[in-house]
Amino acid sequence: MLTRWMRLLAITGIGMGAAAASLAPAAVRAGDRPRLRASASAAPVAWSSPSAAPTVYGLRRFPYPYRAMLALSSDADSQTLRKFNLVHRFINTTEPTPLGQGLGLDYADSFFVYTANDQRHIVDEVGNVPLQRELSYFRGTSQTPYGAEAIHAYIRDGWIDTIHTYGDFSQVNQHTTRFRRDLAVKAVAALKAHGDRVDVWTDHGNQSNVDNFGARGRGRFYAYQQGDLPGSPYYHTDLTIPYGVRFVWPDISSNVFARASVVFPLRLSDGRRVWGFWRYTNERYTPQGAVVWNWTPYGLGEQLSEAHLHRLEAMGGFAVVAQHLCGTPYPGVLPQDAVAALKRLARHEQSGALLVTRTSRLLHYNVARDHLRYDVTHAFGRTYIHIRAIDDPVFGRHTPTLDEIRGITFYTDNPRKTVLELGDQPIAAAMVVHHPSDGQHPSIGVRWYPRDTADHAVDVPGVS
Ligand SMILES: [Zn+2]
Repeated sequence: MLTRWMRLLAITGIGMGAAAASLAPAAVRAGDRPRLRASASAAPVAWSSPSAAPTVYGLRRFPYPYRAMLALSSDADSQTLRKFNLVHRFINTTEPTPLGQGLGLDYADSFFVYTANDQRHIVDEVGNVPLQRELSYFRGTSQTPYGAEAIHAYIRDGWIDTIHTYGDFSQVNQHTTRFRRDLAVKAVAALKAHGDRVDVWTDHGNQSNVDNFGARGRGRFYAYQQGDLPGSPYYHTDLTIPYGVRFVWPDISSNVFARASVVFPLRLSDGRRVWGFWRYTNERYTPQGAVVWNWTPYGLGEQLSEAHLHRLEAMGGFAVVAQHLCGTPYPGVLPQDAVAALKRLARHEQSGALLVTRTSRLLHYNVARDHLRYDVTHAFGRTYIHIRAIDDPVFGRHTPTLDEIRGITFYTDNPRKTVLELGDQPIAAAMVVHHPSDGQHPSIGVRWYPRDTADHAVDVPGVS
């Protein structure tokens, strides 16, 4: 039945689209966030919602049907292009590979810009590649491209989304370093010039890696971190944050596998603010309290145990699992136990319980979901969900792009009579997905990223 107001609207020719919706009073139902904009309540309060309009019950924690989200966050240590390609063909594609049938998971890696490690060992038995030739953008600390062409392609194609500091500066003598601010200046200039943008930073290595940052003040150990210390010859966050880094893992260990949220606001020594994030790095500590890292392929079985994955799904949380998937020097790279662990992970995704995605996507989703601002209006038996903003407490309130709200999902009585809008504009039908009840309610959401199982591997002459 049309109410008097609806008849009036119909008579005056106002359609059922955004205009009518924005005039409608925004009766917030249970579960909706009380975030009504002034514009939404401009109409008379008597404009109660028509009984036929679906009720919105708030946000679903994860895109349907998933109950949890996990990212593998692998550090570039000992990486070679050969090993990188072998591991990514197995994890990302669905083609037959030497490690088994490809798993088709969304997994992105990290990279170094420079290599200055003075330790002596072989990082790849195939070709006897010394540590000094591990995969990095430039050769050594020069400005001569080494893996730049491959790294550029992988950033573009989604196989790399993280910078593992400006380079591998670990030294046998941890009181020395080969890092200088000038290397960061040149790195940022080169990355920008080639359009190589990543927004996740993970700290690396021993105390020679003075370009690390984010944990100064957490204890005496972290005094080595000078990347965010103005006046230090190693200061660079005045360049690195404007370059685009938004999320930082500041060299902090954690034995917590699943968290309700993995991000936290982080104030740097120079006053800049970024998002910090937690990675799971270990299960145990020595009796003396030292961390027993399990972030090598040999620890992957313990990391991705059935118990961990089950608990993650049961609590509906996030997990970012720190690894060094190219950390072994062997031709096959991943031991059988690690391969089995990755297959287990893939089964959890295939079952619809766990969404496996690249680190940057998980972190952006975490922020978008936790700080989403929207309101709900009703008109002509339809319900309109207006996504207004991401009220990001670190980088500021802003209107999101469609990519920023991918996966955002709302419970509603009736997806077919619910309209998802960005502001007051309906989101294109191709980007909207309707779901049946998961036991609580049906839902409507912004489509998650399309699955990409293409083989993006490239070979670069002269690069191991
Ligand atoms: Zn590292």
